[in-house]
Amino acid sequence: EIAKTQAELDAALEREENQKDAMIRRIRIMYEKGDSYILDMMLKAESFSDFLNRADFMDLIMAYDRQQWKDFMENRKYIELCKEELEEEKAILDEAKAGVEQEQANMEALIDQKNRDITAYESDITNKEQAIKEYKQSIADQDAEIAALEAAIAAEKKKILEASGTVLTYDGGTFKFPLATYTRISDDYGNRIHPTLGIEQFHNGVDFAAPKGTAIYAAYDGQVVAATYSNTMGNYVMLDHGGGLYTIYMHASALYVSKDDIVVRGETIAAVGSTGRSTGNHLHFSVRKDGAYTSPWNYLSQ
Ligand SMILES: [Zn+2]
Repeated sequence: EIAKTQAELDAALEREENQKDAMIRRIRIMYEKGDSYILDMMLKAESFSDFLNRADFMDLIMAYDRQQWKDFMENRKYIELCKEELEEEKAILDEAKAGVEQEQANMEALIDQKNRDITAYESDITNKEQAIKEYKQSIADQDAEIAALEAAIAAEKKKILEASGTVLTYDGGTFKFPLATYTRISDDYGNRIHPTLGIEQFHNGVDFAAPKGTAIYAAYDGQVVAATYSNTMGNYVMLDHGGGLYTIYMHASALYVSKDDIVVRGETIAAVGSTGRSTGNHLHFSVRKDGAYTSPWNYLSQ
């Protein structure tokens, strides 16, 4: 549009130049010849009809001059219109350009933001992978600790059996609930998605959320295999009930029994806490049968 208007303006300006030249030539002739030019011409008429012809001719010349002047003025008006249109078109173009530039700036800001997000996600993924690795390692450590205790007990039992011929046996009775009170099961036994790591992870016991200090009971008659501290389990108690059956109580704030103590069903052995790898006061209660975790609900009546 701008190129088209510019071409029209150029043509009009050229036309104006030509009109000016023509008018200047005309004015110069009139000036040089003066008023006498017309008078001379009229007086040189050879007859009345010649005089009339000459008068008509003068009319024609004057009409021609007037027309020239009118054309000139119209052309000038047209030049003004062309210039105005150019201004308008340029203003529209500038506005469109500013809009595009703003859009581009917004887009670049958005790209910057997205790049920062990607960097943050990448570092988050790295942190998470590290956390998952540590978490899996801690679970492996915990399993190894429990398995080692069981192996030690098995070896001891073999010695006792060899010496006396008697051994602790589980008679198949129902467990006592390991807590007097609890607010809710915060995490049940089985496979579940880890709340912060987002990976599927086997949960080897039942978590009971309970206030700090709540009494933890021995679920059944047995002997204390461990009453100690570990990084992941915190203060924990492991009881041997005979027949390859064990119970484990984790994250305690206090322990009331010692290794090798004999305990009876319902005896207070520890108090609820949040020690070790724990996010709040709760009892993690696990049951082991023949060297593997089993659902506590097989032994507990809710
Ligand atoms: Zn747990």
